[in-house]
This record gives sequence, structure tokens and C-alpha cells, in this order.
Amino acid sequence: MSLQNLSDERLIADTKMWNEKEEYCTRQFLRHINEVNRRRLFCDSQTGSLFKYIRKNFNKSDSEISRRVLAAKTLRHIPSADKALANKQVTLTNLAEVSNLVGNIKSNKKKNEILNSIKGKTQIQTRDLVDELTGKKRVTRSKTRAHSDGSIRIHLTLVGQTAKDYQFIKEQLSNSRVYRPEDIIGHAINTTAESMRKKILSIGSRKSKAITNSRTISAAIKKAVITRSGNKCENCASKYNLHFDHIVPYSMGGESAIGNVRQLCSNCNSRAAIVALSQHKMDIFINQS
Ligand SMILES: [Zn+2]
Repeated sequence: MSLQNLSDERLIADTKMWNEKEEYCTRQFLRHINEVNRRRLFCDSQTGSLFKYIRKNFNKSDSEISRRVLAAKTLRHIPSADKALANKQVTLTNLAEVSNLVGNIKSNKKKNEILNSIKGKTQIQTRDLVDELTGKKRVTRSKTRAHSDGSIRIHLTLVGQTAKDYQFIKEQLSNSRVYRPEDIIGHAINTTAESMRKKILSIGSRKSKAITNSRTISAAIKKAVITRSGNKCENCASKYNLHFDHIVPYSMGGESAIGNVRQLCSNCNSRAAIVALSQHKMDIFINQS
């Protein structure tokens, strides 16, 4: 039936109905991706993270995915947030904004207080609340675009203490030579990257005995594994949160030798443990909220 033939009342009522269906579907989607996450099922398709799994399989923009993944995380930590979402007391955006905050809080009472404090709040108000509670120096990234020549265009808004720190650096440097904003930010990125690289390299260079009949993996074996893996997860190629994993678990007689040790990201490591030892046994270690 063409919408053009609907009465005004019916058109308004139907628009409301479809909006409610959409909101219901979104909540169901969040519940389902949380269960996919609990099982670390995205590791089976080498996607490395829930975010990349959704990007690969579903037609959503990065910002839509990010909002859903973060909101789903908040729902894992505060189950009653689902009801608040259904009752339109909070939005997906509100829930996404507090996801990291509630992820670091143990007390359920405190988590519920945070949920209550974001009810009816806008995104900016929620963000301000999170900054207040964490004392965070926020750097707001409004837009990032990668270009084919390898350069990345970033629109940055520096606020609060970060803006003051930027002014301080600029004033200090202006005495010696004229610095442009990109020089200051470029210097900060280079310095941070250098210290991260040193930290990664130090993993492979710590001295210890090259023994294989111990749960401890020697520095020499770690170094050899890193050379083989290129310092990436050997399942999904992620470069983040890497761990050394016994392919045959040490408790089942697996040695700490090069052939039995691999580098996995924390998600693929968890998925391997779920497959080897059962979801039930691993839930207490990896899915506590
Ligand atoms: Zn991985």
C-alpha cells in the first residue's frame, strides 16, 4: 500500500510504531552482540574484535558500530540499563559515553548511581559528567580521515587541561623557534610512539633461562615467537593486547617451546581457552562484570 493513501492519523501512528520496532530491534541487537562477545565468537572469523566483526558482516558506519559496541558494554555491566533504554530514560549515546567508566567500577551500587545520573541527559552533559568523575583531560577528536598517500587528516578540539598544556608548550617553544600546532602535536605523537616501541621491544630482551619444561616462557622463546608473528596476533593479526599462549596448555603437558607457544591478542586468547576448557569454566575469568 502506498503511504500516500494513508490518513494523517494513520501515518503518524505508523511512524511511531516503526520507530518503536526499530528501538526494540536495536536492543535485541545489543543483547546478541553481547552473547557473541561472551563466547568471543568473532575470533573464529579472524576479525579480532567485536567492532571489526560487525564492520565485516553488517552494513553499518563506524560511528554506528562504535555506539552499539560501547552501549552493549554498559549493558553487560549494568543489566538494568536495558530497561532504562526501553523506557527512553537513556539513549544509546548516553550508554556509550559511560562504558569505559562503568567498566572500571566494581560496585554495582555505584554503577546504578551512574545510570541514574545520566537519565535524561544529553551527550555533552553525559560527557561532562564522565570527565568530572574521572578527572580526565579530554582531547575531543571530531573527525579523522585517512588519505591514499598515507597521511591522516584530523580535526582536533583541545579542551580543559589539555588546551592549557598546549598553550604552555607553545609559549615555551616560542622563545627558541616558531612552532606550528602540527609540530607540537607531531612531537607528542612521535614521543609517545617511541616509548611504546621501546616497551614492546623490551618484552623480548629480558634475560632468563631458555628452559621449556616450565610454565614460564623464556625471553629467548618470546623473542623467537615475536620474530615469527611480526608482533601480531597469530590468529587475527591484531597488534593490541598481545599475550603469549601455550597451544597445548601447560596443565595438559604442553611445553614452553617455540612450536607450542604463539602470540594471541587477549580476545583470541580467551576464545582459545573457551574452546579448550569450556565457556562455563572461562566465564569467571573473562566475563566478570
Ligand atoms: Zn587475535
